[in-house]
Amino acid sequence: MNDMNDIKHHLHDEILLAYSAGALPEAFNLIVATHLEMCDECRAAAQAFDSVGGVFLDETAKVSMSKDALANTLTLISKMPGIKGSEPQNKIPNPLAAYVGSSLDDIKWRPIGMGVRQAVLKTSKSATARLLYIPAGSVVPDHGHRGTELTLVLKGAFSDETARFTVGDVETADQSLEHTPMADIGEDCICLTATDAPLRFNSWFPRLAQRFLGI
Ligand code: ZN
Ligand code: ZN
Repeated sequence: MNDMNDIKHHLHDEILLAYSAGALPEAFNLIVATHLEMCDECRAAAQAFDSVGGVFLDETAKVSMSKDALANTLTLISKMPGIKGSEPQNKIPNPLAAYVGSSLDDIKWRPIGMGVRQAVLKTSKSATARLLYIPAGSVVPDHGHRGTELTLVLKGAFSDETARFTVGDVETADQSLEHTPMADIGEDCICLTATDAPLRFNSWFPRLAQRFLGI
C-alpha cells in the first residue's frame, strides 16, 4: 500500500465517538477498525475517546447527546497529549483480514453492472459491509443515499463530485450527497464500504440490479 501519511479524508469525530461507545453496527465497526489500523491520526483520536469519552459516554449513552456535550468532550480530548500509534502494515489490515482472508486475490466478486464488482461481507443485518472493485476509469452508478455510507480506499483511488480519495482515505456520505465515484484512469480501485440503508440508484437499470443483488 501507499504511504499512509498521505491520508487526507478521515473518520468524523461523531463516528469515532460512537465507535468508542460500542454504538455502531458491525459493518461500521469493521470499516472504522480498518481505517484505524491505516491511520495514526484517527487511532490516536480513538484512543483518546476510549480513555476520556468512554467514561463520559457511560453517563450519557441513554440520553441523546447535546451539541455542547460533544463539543466539551472534543475540547477535553484536544488538550490531551498525543498518543503515538504503531506502524501501519503493508498488507490487508487485520480487522478486514478476519472477514476476507489475507489476500485481495481470493475474493469472490459478483458483477453489479458497468464493470463494477462487489463482494458482500458477512455482518449483522443492521448495516451492510461490502468490497467494491472499480476497474480503472470506470464509474459506480450515480446514486444517492438514504442513510450513511462510509467508503474506505484499500487500493488505487477514486474521485467524485466532492474530492479525490486515495489509499487510506474515507469518504463520509449521507442523504445530502448524490455522487458518481470514478476510479483513476491508471489503476483499478478497491474500496470497503459500509451502508446503513439501501442505496438509491438513479437510473432504471441499476435500480433493477438493486432489487436482485441487494445493493
Ligand atoms: Zn484517519
Ligand atoms: Zn455513495
